[in-house]
Parts: sequence; C-alpha cells; structure tokens
Amino acid sequence: MAAVLHASVLEQAGAFRGNALLLSGPARVGKLGLALAIAAGQNCSGTRGIGGEACGACPSCLAMATGAHPDVLQVEPRATTATGKAARRKLIPIGAILDARDKTHEYETHVYEFLEVRPTHRRRVVIVNGAEHLGPEAANALLKLVEEPPHGALFLFLAEDVRAVLPTISSRSARLGVAPASDRALEAALSRAGEEADPELVEFAAGRAGVLDALETVRAALQDAREFDTALDVGLLSALEAAEALEKRLDPAWHPEALRFTWRTRPPHRRARADTALDELQGALEAYASPSLSFQVFALALRDAFGEA
Ligand SMILES: [Zn+2]
Repeated sequence: MAAVLHASVLEQAGAFRGNALLLSGPARVGKLGLALAIAAGQNCSGTRGIGGEACGACPSCLAMATGAHPDVLQVEPRATTATGKAARRKLIPIGAILDARDKTHEYETHVYEFLEVRPTHRRRVVIVNGAEHLGPEAANALLKLVEEPPHGALFLFLAEDVRAVLPTISSRSARLGVAPASDRALEAALSRAGEEADPELVEFAAGRAGVLDALETVRAALQDAREFDTALDVGLLSALEAAEALEKRLDPAWHPEALRFTWRTRPPHRRARADTALDELQGALEAYASPSLSFQVFALALRDAFGEA
C-alpha cells in the first residue's frame, strides 16, 4: 500500500544513485513499506511497471514476498532488554552493527558482517528503522560503511524527525519526505485492493499507509475498542468483564491508539482524563505490575473519567 500511495517518492528513490537515503515522515505513514519497495526495486531482475516498480515475479521479488530476502537487513531498536524487562529508552546499540560488540547476542545479524558478503541478487540494502535511536557509538561505527559501502550497498534510514537523527548520519544521506496521503487517495487504494473503505477506518488512518498494511489487526483493534467503550457505559460488572477481555486481546501497537480514537468525540476534559488513565495502564504494564489488576483499575478510571462511576 505504501508503494501505491507514495509512488512519486518511490520513483525518486529509484532514480537515486547514492549510498544513503533518509526517509522522514510521521509514524505509520508508510516509511517501512516504502523502504521495502525500494529494496525490491534495487534487486528486481524482471520487467518493471510503469512507475519503475518491481515486477513481483522474478526470484528476488519472490524472496521479497516471503519476508526473508537474503539481501535486505532491517535494524530496529529493541523494545525489551536482554533480561526481558521492557526498555525505558529505545536505542540501537553498537551491538547491532558489530558482532564482536554484541555481548548479549541481542541481534541475529549485524550490519558489518552482513555487508561483508556479496549480494545474492543485485544489491544489499540495510534498512535502519528508527534512525533517531542510533546511539553515537553505533552511528560512528556506521560512518565508514555509509561512506564506502562494501559491494555498493544501499542504506535506508527511516526517521519520524530528521532533527533527532545524529548529524553524522543525516549529513551523509539524501533526504526524502514522506507525507500522509489524502483521504481520497487512501479510499482509492483500499478499493483497488478490494477492501471496503469504511469512513471510520479512513478517519483512523488519517492518510497513513502503514495503517492499510495492517488492515486486519487495525479493524480488530477498532472493534475491541468500540466494544470496550460500550461496556463502560453499561455498568460496573460489564466494565470489569470488558477489561478482562481487553487484557487478553491487547496489541500494544494498535489498541492504545484505537482506544484514543473511540473517545475522540467525548468532551475534552473527559478525554484528557481518559488519556491519563491509558498512560498509567501502559506504564503499569511496562513495570510488570499485575496485568489483570491494572486493567481493572483502567476500566474504573475510565468510568470515572466519562462520568459513569
Ligand atoms: Zn522482480
């Protein structure tokens, strides 16, 4: 979907002849989808589409479709530390770059070692998803690789805020901005994919292609949030039951945003209190407080916030 909604960015990236691109734009706008489409384009050996997009049928494109392309490496900050505790601060450590510095074996593949190997298809591509989380040591270790990438590899740095990316990286990269698409473009992309463009989904997506790439999960999260919201109004017992159901289904990537979305029409002061309750729930879950108790507290706080206690 990202490739469809950001065809012009993809075209510019396809014509780019340098070593490093920095794609910036809001969360879930489709940066990762675009990066994967760029990587596919760099390695495709088939007949290109009108916009230069990858064929989807050659050996490289088929490998891409399995999600395990031998020439594509994704580097991300770890949300949890080696001890299993949730990390308070996201970071891409030097251990992601060099095997020898990865004492706790956090990363399966390391950038330096990955680039020593010749590409299986055409070009090795390293996608750094969250370039603003590169630590200074990791960024310094990357410098030489970015300036003279072995075997002509391509670096794709993805960031929400260019200003938060270390200058050593951003100054060596060509920049491309990725903006949210219009609702109309999003609706058109949905219907081309044979999906219903229901107004609620379009409003939630707010032009972000990343939402369309996780359609099923997003639809389920919206449905859960709606059911939870309705149960709050019914009564105390149903609110507590709904809290238990939500605990079982909570996907930290989508449910918090879906919940905030369902109470967007509430009065601002009530919404603010609900947001605080959600922040507190997320904090408690990160701190490994008792999950079921935390969800019950959350449901009670929401009933209070919405004036139903
Ligand atoms: Zn292809």
